[in-house]
Amino acid sequence: MMHDAVDTATEDRIVKQDVWSSTSFWQKQALDEDGDVSAPLIGDSRADVCIVGGGFTGLWTALHLKQQAPDLDVVLIEAKRCGDGGSGANAGYALPLWANFPALEEQHGSDEALRLCRASEAVIDEIEDLARSHAADIGMRRHGVIWGATCAAQTGHWEEAIASMDRHQVKHYTPLDHEEIKRRTGSHAYVAGVLEGTSATVHPGKLVRLLRRAVLAAGVRLHETTPMTALGRTTPPVVTTPGGTITADRVVLAMYAWTGAIRELKREIVVLCSDVMVTQPQEQAVAAQGWRDGPALYDSRTLTEGTRTTPDGRVLFNKAGGRLAFCTGVDRSQSRPGRSVDELQAMLTTHMPDLAQAPASHAWSAAIDRTRSGMPLFGRLPGSPHILYGFGYSGRGVLTTNLGGKILASLALDADDAWSHAGFVRKPATSFPPEPIRFLGGLAVRQAIRRKDQLDHAGRKPDPLTSFFYGFKPGRWNRR
Ligand SMILES: Cc1cc2nc3c(=O)[nH]c(=O)nc-3n(C[C@H](O)[C@H](O)[C@H](O)COP(=O)(O)OP(=O)(O)OC[C@H]3O[C@@H](n4cnc5c(N)ncnc54)[C@H](O)[C@@H]3O)c2cc1C
Repeated sequence: MMHDAVDTATEDRIVKQDVWSSTSFWQKQALDEDGDVSAPLIGDSRADVCIVGGGFTGLWTALHLKQQAPDLDVVLIEAKRCGDGGSGANAGYALPLWANFPALEEQHGSDEALRLCRASEAVIDEIEDLARSHAADIGMRRHGVIWGATCAAQTGHWEEAIASMDRHQVKHYTPLDHEEIKRRTGSHAYVAGVLEGTSATVHPGKLVRLLRRAVLAAGVRLHETTPMTALGRTTPPVVTTPGGTITADRVVLAMYAWTGAIRELKREIVVLCSDVMVTQPQEQAVAAQGWRDGPALYDSRTLTEGTRTTPDGRVLFNKAGGRLAFCTGVDRSQSRPGRSVDELQAMLTTHMPDLAQAPASHAWSAAIDRTRSGMPLFGRLPGSPHILYGFGYSGRGVLTTNLGGKILASLALDADDAWSHAGFVRKPATSFPPEPIRFLGGLAVRQAIRRKDQLDHAGRKPDPLTSFFYGFKPGRWNRR
């Protein structure tokens, strides 16, 4: 008996180790269908625009450039494979910017805030049109998303957004009570929430593959497994890779969490991983709970927890606030689990106890770049106006990267338009202290955020020390 028990425990550990991988479930599924990888760059090359980074930002930038200037010679280099960064690893919530409307309005005025929010909403149609034109299934489901509260302290976090939007006759949120959320999703965990009716979910890995196909069809030269190893801040700038160089009139840095490798930008972000887990397919159990075509959910913790279904009937759980990266150690941080599969499964149990019974099939951790304000940042590198940057989506990039691509394309083309003057175009501001202060301070702040989330759920007020460190948390777009 004892022997059997040990064997079962060992087997269980092995299965759980197999569940965790540094490659996301989405990326694996997408690459199983279309595993094409472009050849690395060999030799020296010239281009009009060189884009560094093959995630949503780099791919959308390439596509927008070719749509506006079909003859432009655009080359895109990616260190690994397209989608091996945040774009192939995220939770797939396609959320327009309305939750951030108050902060956007305060910083950029009502007209620009409304323009950005409406433009972000229109991206969902743009993605759907692109998928249709390439006959691609990207698992887009327009069933809305519930932004909710899992304890009394979180209730009403959406009120400010609703009040600001009311002043402009914008109705985006439908209030839901506990019973209604339970009816739509089967979850008892939410005390209240709002339905964001125009939000959707996508299969992020398949969206990356669609964009990759679209840029190739548009004539972009793509080189994967081609890391930029040096950036010459000359005129024109020169990008060095292991196999050769690219001299380009404009260089676009679309490197997300890896932006810390650029010395002018390294003080603009802290990099914190999020942990994600999906269960084995359990379509019948999901349907029995009444959630099959139901909306995705996320709560109002500062370290958000979200649950959604996948197109093949699994349940995905996503938890923010995992491992913190020291300096530029992004790859090191996401190469190990931030939280164990057991921990993630236990968290899922609090949201969906029945569905958490199914074994986990995949788990991964991936890096998120958080800016001080919680807003993304686009512009020209100080002292090197021909080098452009775009990063800092702070966990909300599935739709916003499309706007980022429009901004970067306009900047690269020296256009004088709404995108080159968008509110997100800002100079770097040396927002965080240098290492090791950033890392050590980050650990203290993360701990305070975790504690505050726990105290909120226990119905208790945070102690002064927790409140003090909590005050340093990077800004949330919705300013909670
Ligand atoms: C776990 C997780 C969950 C998330 N959930 C959501 C969500 O539900 N909804 C939402 O809106 N957003 C979400 N996000 C955020 C969203 O995924 C990102 O904002 C978005 O993918 C950023 O796209 P990107 O192209 O800027 O970055 P990336 O996709 O990371 O692309 C950057 C690329 O640059 C490459 N690169 C880096 N350095 C170099 C170099 N030196 N040379 C060449 N290439 C280089 C990297 O390999 C990488 O592929 C989540 C993020 C994570 C990590």
